[in-house]
Amino acid sequence: MDVMGISDKKNQPLNRGRIKTLSLLFHRHRVRSWVQTGVFIATLATGVQFALYVHQAAQAVPITIPKPHGVEGFLPIGALLGWKYFITTAQWDSIHPAAMVIFGFALVASFLLSKSFCGWFCPVGTLSEWIFRLGHHWGMPSFIFPRWVDLPLRSVKYIFLGFFLWIIVQMNTVETNAFLNSFYYKTSDVRMLLFFTHMSGTTLICLSLLVCFSLFVRNFWCRYLCPYGALAGIVSYAGPTHISRDNGSCIACGKCTAICPNHILVGQIPKVRTPECTGCMDCVDSCPVDGTLMLKTTGLKMRWTEKKLGLMIIALYLILVYTAIITGHWKSSVPDQQYRMFIAHMGKNR
Ligand code: SF4
Ligand code: SF4
Repeated sequence: MDVMGISDKKNQPLNRGRIKTLSLLFHRHRVRSWVQTGVFIATLATGVQFALYVHQAAQAVPITIPKPHGVEGFLPIGALLGWKYFITTAQWDSIHPAAMVIFGFALVASFLLSKSFCGWFCPVGTLSEWIFRLGHHWGMPSFIFPRWVDLPLRSVKYIFLGFFLWIIVQMNTVETNAFLNSFYYKTSDVRMLLFFTHMSGTTLICLSLLVCFSLFVRNFWCRYLCPYGALAGIVSYAGPTHISRDNGSCIACGKCTAICPNHILVGQIPKVRTPECTGCMDCVDSCPVDGTLMLKTTGLKMRWTEKKLGLMIIALYLILVYTAIITGHWKSSVPDQQYRMFIAHMGKNR
């Protein structure tokens, strides 16, 4: 298929296999699918629990459902501000501390294990992948933008990131502290929930457009718009873990390049060193010559298999979260009763 002047010709020998593969949301033999699905279900369960918690807090009934603090993972701007405050004052944000832990995990994972937070963990990235696969399954054409469109579009996520960083850098310690203790920030998790449960017309249109684009363009949100992914990409670029290719054993079949979801010319370069590589290992999985493509960490003799990488990502997450729980850096200091007052106040002002 030739779309927007770009053809899928390089992918043609694989099309039948790819269509078959893409028709499934879940690859049983791929560890990455298991990890992505597990994290997605856990995120969904956390969201439902938080919605029930807020529902109880808004009623005159006892609160029996505990607030799931993992929901704060969706507050990356607050997390950035929290980290800035911690670096400048050595004081840990007690309002949404879990946001800082999850954000820290994303950066550590991206630095140590390629941009694996995006490729393996992020539920938004998973959803974006699934939407594209559904589109492919339904026979929709897939668009690959020509380079002159793709490059400027890719810079949009860096512009968003730069904008947020610029605002954060501008704020002094007093302003940062005031924000972290503001009514707005204290209720930001509830606002985020309302953003989805009580969508405005504009939100609905924007999300519908995103879904539409994601049906036709692979990883549309991640590739072009996500500032979180932009930061993870920069961090992973500086990290020690990258895909490397052994030119001696490579038979130049081009399968790795064809399958790469991020359109990286894997089969033509000795080392994949780009902020776009999400460490998904699709290229390694597709390579017919064992040991030619490897995900390796500088200084480590072993090569990463999907199993090892998946286990490492989950272990890293659990270690960081449980360390934060045990040391009192996870749970918000805002008591349930105060939440109840906040929610009542928000209800009056909506
Ligand atoms: S297919 Fe290979 S090069 Fe492409 S994003 Fe995945 S790991 Fe990186
Ligand atoms: S899939 Fe393997 S053998 Fe084929 S081009 Fe890529 S690295 Fe070489």
